[in-house]
Amino acid sequence: AKARGRGQACVFKRSLGVETERRVNLLEEVRLGLRRDEFDVYYQPIIDLRTSEVRGFEALVRWQHPTRGLLTPAAFSAALEDHALSAKIGAFVLDRSLGQLRQWTNQSIPVLCVNVNISRSQLQSGDELSRQVVALLKKYDLSPDRLKLEILESAFLGDRADAVADVLRQLRQFGVISALDDFGTGYASLTHLKTFDVGRIKIDRSFISGLEEQQSNRVITQAIIDLGANLGMRVVAEGVETLEQLKVLVAGNCDCGQGYLFSRPMPGGEVPGFLARWRHYGHR
Ligand code: C2E
Ligand code: CA
Ligand code: CA
Ligand code: CA
Repeated sequence: AKARGRGQACVFKRSLGVETERRVNLLEEVRLGLRRDEFDVYYQPIIDLRTSEVRGFEALVRWQHPTRGLLTPAAFSAALEDHALSAKIGAFVLDRSLGQLRQWTNQSIPVLCVNVNISRSQLQSGDELSRQVVALLKKYDLSPDRLKLEILESAFLGDRADAVADVLRQLRQFGVISALDDFGTGYASLTHLKTFDVGRIKIDRSFISGLEEQQSNRVITQAIIDLGANLGMRVVAEGVETLEQLKVLVAGNCDCGQGYLFSRPMPGGEVPGFLARWRHYGHR
């Protein structure tokens, strides 16, 4: 039994080695990919459920990998958790999406704002983030209400919570509103609404996906919508895939929706065409 135990430990160690090696390789590849300009930003519309107007677009990072094709963040999540790399990717996404917004504005393409996801380490890097945001808005001559930041609750955890609260307050005073992403899935969500300066709530997809058949999800979703309304926050339902879900959200007076029902995330070049079609045919 002892020999077998040793053997297992050995296999375990070896596979840990392989895992670490794979991670290091991935990070190195991402670094190279960034330098080779293989990263891109896709955009998914956020729809006003009362007027069916497009309120803005969420910017979602993509990696056009030379051999593996178009990758979503799930394929390189280790890079988004790595301090130095997530700072690089984050700076790239902010610059690319605000540059895109400037270009659309110049072409009279009516995009009001972009929502950019901010990683935990970006948010915890003190006022580096607010400096970056202020500089980019100036670079592209955009008013602060053209940008929204999407933040996961996990960014609020840890010993830097005070610094994070300061950064969000600074940005809010400057005019950049933040949204609490994946609301309802984190730890102590309600406390965060009180402590951190967020003006938007995004109801996590896991609540929306069971909206038709699950009574509990319906109750929770309605509670979040009402909570947001009472706190003066706009509420966005994410992952809306079916007409049934849309009906429940409209009946419940939810402000905005986002999901495959309206559109999948698309390259920036497809946004003008999407908007033209959307205006022409209205909602489905
Ligand atoms: P998220 O912020 O919750 O973004 C929404 C995710 O749901 C996106 O996945 C989007 O493509 C997907 N989605 C939208 N509508 C639907 C729907 O109707 N059904 C389903 N099943 N999925 C839908 P994506 O683009 O793969 O991104 C995954 C996560 O990666 C994001 O979740 C976000 O946390 C993170 N992420 C994406 N872009 C960035 C970025 O630029 N920076 C950072 N730090 N994180 C990012
Ligand atoms: Ca998001
Ligand atoms: Ca989300
Ligand atoms: Ca999510």
